[in-house]
Amino acid sequence: MRPVRTGVSFDVLVIGSGASGLAAAVSAERAGARVGVATKTTLQACNSAKAQGGIQAAFGEDDSPEIHAEDVMRSSHETANPRLVEVLTTEAPSAIHWLEEVGVEFTRSNGGYRLARCGGASRKRLLQVGDRTGHAITKALREAYEAGPGAQLPHHALTVLRPGEHGWTATFRTKNDDTVEIDAGTIVLAAGGRCYAEAETRGELSTNHPNATGETTRIAVEAGAETRDLDALQYHPNGGAWPATMQGYSIPETTRAYGAVLLNADGEEFTDSLGARDAVSQAIFDEVAKGKGLLTPDGFPAVWLDTTRIEPEDAEISLPYMLRRYRGAGIDPLTEPIYTYPVLHYQNGGLVIDEHAETTLEGVFACGEIAGGTHGRNRMMGNSLLECTVFGRRAGRAAAEKARA
Ligand SMILES: Cc1cc2nc3c(=O)[nH]c(=O)nc-3n(C[C@H](O)[C@H](O)[C@H](O)COP(=O)(O)OP(=O)(O)OC[C@H]3O[C@@H](n4cnc5c(N)ncnc54)[C@H](O)[C@@H]3O)c2cc1C
Repeated sequence: MRPVRTGVSFDVLVIGSGASGLAAAVSAERAGARVGVATKTTLQACNSAKAQGGIQAAFGEDDSPEIHAEDVMRSSHETANPRLVEVLTTEAPSAIHWLEEVGVEFTRSNGGYRLARCGGASRKRLLQVGDRTGHAITKALREAYEAGPGAQLPHHALTVLRPGEHGWTATFRTKNDDTVEIDAGTIVLAAGGRCYAEAETRGELSTNHPNATGETTRIAVEAGAETRDLDALQYHPNGGAWPATMQGYSIPETTRAYGAVLLNADGEEFTDSLGARDAVSQAIFDEVAKGKGLLTPDGFPAVWLDTTRIEPEDAEISLPYMLRRYRGAGIDPLTEPIYTYPVLHYQNGGLVIDEHAETTLEGVFACGEIAGGTHGRNRMMGNSLLECTVFGRRAGRAAAEKARA
């Protein structure tokens, strides 16, 4: 079918409406650009809104951006790009203040942020909004974008990207199966990862939203963009394994930050429950392979997550959604341990970007899970929402500047 030329054009066209796309859109608009946000289904549909645990930033008295960066490099097994990591950790505190300015209210205690220690971290550094952090961030950013003049293009799935007369031309498939073309000075790719599609191919469970299918990375590669670490996919160590309604649910890592530990069938701790994600997931796989795991009532492998060690007060402040979900399914995690097993969760690698989030294609920017380098081959928990904010802001600003040049 021949594409319909819409005649619509933007300075900056953002693809995707998760935390990174919305941060880029708000930031591009504040830099004076005419912005459009095109997204595959609704503006609300994304992985970002499902994020529970939190977002990292060095606010602790014993912490600093340098220590945060060391933790990222160590967790990535020295595979992350040190310059991107430096940007990520140095700008983290200001990114948090920017989120507060758009309306995010982080949980506080004793006059400061309530900070938790997440897997692979040497300090308490994880800020939370209860256990609906991603929901709070995307809602605030969406409302900030909706309050401005920027265009919304829901049900626009990107299918092709090619150089245009004054920048780039993007082709979309719309809800009615029409094919339309839109021109833009610059493009921000913020279309997330591919773990939903990958899990379907492997016949496994995933924590991801069904829109996490990864075709935008392929489209960018077809246009000539370079990638890195695309094969490095991350398992979340704690997928829900039982009851059936909780299978594939990502049990927040903050359960372990607040005292829950992993136990084998004999009730023994077999790993550092706050180790790096890849190490903890591998330890669970190995324990089950040694025959020291459990079987769920419907016959799937698992180990225990002993959530009874969490103080009720911590659970009520920082895990209310998780408690509600499990109690609604008939299990109280504060009185009995829960079954858990790793589940496909995150695409560590992606499009190669520089410190301004520009890909190897001039005028095409990328931020969030679709971009590679910031986490190397193993991301720390809480650094993805941070990456979305830090590099989303940078992408939006730089894309607006380049579109005007
Ligand atoms: C259950 C869960 C819990 C998590 N918890 C945390 C946490 O506590 N802390 C943390 O830091 N990270 C967490 N993460 C990871 C983090 O939330 C995501 O990696 C991050 O939010 C991704 O944001 P994004 O903007 O890159 O992509 P997404 O939020 O996935 O948004 C991608 C957008 O692109 C759109 N899109 C996709 N394809 C196309 C296309 N072809 N055309 C147009 N639009 C398209 C989608 O519809 C969507 O709007 C969690 C992830 C999950 C799934």
